[in-house]
Amino acid sequence: MACPEFEELLRDGARGHAAQCEECRALLEALEDVDATFEAAFAGVAAPPGFEAAVRARVARESRLRAPSLVPEILDFIGWAAVLALAAILLPRVLPFLTAMLAQLS
Ligand SMILES: [Zn+2]
Repeated sequence: MACPEFEELLRDGARGHAAQCEECRALLEALEDVDATFEAAFAGVAAPPGFEAAVRARVARESRLRAPSLVPEILDFIGWAAVLALAAILLPRVLPFLTAMLAQLS
């Protein structure tokens, strides 16, 4: 089910919607005021040289993924090995009964 207001936003964009909506127009104007105020207040401020490289290096260092643990894989292996061992033990003991039952049925 489509929302007409959302469809209008997709079609016309924020500016198109704000042209017809008083609340959104006021919000966009307030955001533009904030943007202009920050631009004026911090126009002369620049990050020190090397800041960007330091930030990128730190982000790369802290976001490195640790290798996943092997414990779940080992537990899976132990579980499947147990299932296969149980089948290997039980199947030869149950199989004669199953074949006998099938022979009686036919
Ligand atoms: Zn609106």
